[in-house]
Amino acid sequence: QDLYQEAEDTLMLNASVIGYYSGSHSLALVKGTTLVELQTEKVIVATGASEKMLLFENNDLPGVYGAGAVQTLMNVYGIKPGHNMLMVGAGNVGLIVSYQLLQAGVNVEAVVEAMPHIGGYHVHAAKIRRCGVPIYTSTSIQKALGEEYVTGAVTISLDENWNPIRGTEKEYTVDTICLAVGLSPSVELFHQAGCRLAYIPELGGNTPVHNQNMETTLPGVYAAGDAAGIGEANTAMMEGKIAALSCINTLELSTDETVKELEESFRELHLLRSGTFGERARQGKEKVFTLWREHHE
Ligand SMILES: Cc1cc2nc3c(=O)[nH]c(=O)nc-3n(C[C@H](O)[C@H](O)[C@H](O)COP(=O)(O)OP(=O)(O)OC[C@H]3O[C@@H](n4cnc5c(N)ncnc54)[C@H](O)[C@@H]3O)c2cc1C
Repeated sequence: QDLYQEAEDTLMLNASVIGYYSGSHSLALVKGTTLVELQTEKVIVATGASEKMLLFENNDLPGVYGAGAVQTLMNVYGIKPGHNMLMVGAGNVGLIVSYQLLQAGVNVEAVVEAMPHIGGYHVHAAKIRRCGVPIYTSTSIQKALGEEYVTGAVTISLDENWNPIRGTEKEYTVDTICLAVGLSPSVELFHQAGCRLAYIPELGGNTPVHNQNMETTLPGVYAAGDAAGIGEANTAMMEGKIAALSCINTLELSTDETVKELEESFRELHLLRSGTFGERARQGKEKVFTLWREHHE
């Protein structure tokens, strides 16, 4: 209860940071109709990510959703997003959300994936296949059908250069199309602050260049979580902890305990990213750390 009260006192909810002004780490934020200026010594930007969109005919029809929206409708609001669904993307998000849709009683007609192989973990793919959902690789969506809302979808096979192969179109009667085609870090505030950004495909696109302490190229501005490169919830929380402890230590508030905790957090993050599943993220992070070092040479 005490911790909750403490958090309530510190958290400012329904408040959007709309600008960062360099020099004094000054943030402008909007809460309701009020514009608030906040002066800080350090800033940790953990703004998350936005979902990628696909270009195809009728992609603006009601019934075309991002996977995040589908998951929020089901898990937060208890609303079935549709009755018959086509899932686009067989990464972990596409596979896991497909399974959750099945659990909610939605019929998932098929999962299509542009790559020649399934991007997500085998265990998630196997689970939905066992439920009778086919996964078609080297296949993408060509168009959504419908006048006022989605009534169907047409998929098409892709060749090794990702060009559509005519004559391979397949029509589905669906009322919902779910796009699970990746995320991009939300880097607007870093950009506005003047932090160096770099295009790192392994981390989802434009990413703030940062070091192992999560500090960007602008001293005092830190990045954490998906905003610092797309990952998953555990690594996001661990990066947030590292950024916070690094701030504490450089504000000369450090104690033996915070120094020890920081070391422990590095170890835990390393463990979370070890093994083959963490390989892509490791490669991406190595790139941003190298860029950060080069920036400071
Ligand atoms: C559909 C989907 C399913 C997923 N499933 C899993 C899963 O099963 N397991 C897993 O580990 N990971 C999963 N992930 C990934 C996981 O959600 C993210 O890695 C994790 O949420 C990242 O945490 P974060 O704190 O960096 O960002 P977020 O959780 O995105 O939080 C960012 C927060 O910043 C706020 N914000 C943004 N801009 C501003 C601003 N200017 N001012 C104030 N606030 C702002 C946002 O409102 C948001 O609350 C999934 C992702 C998606 C899209």
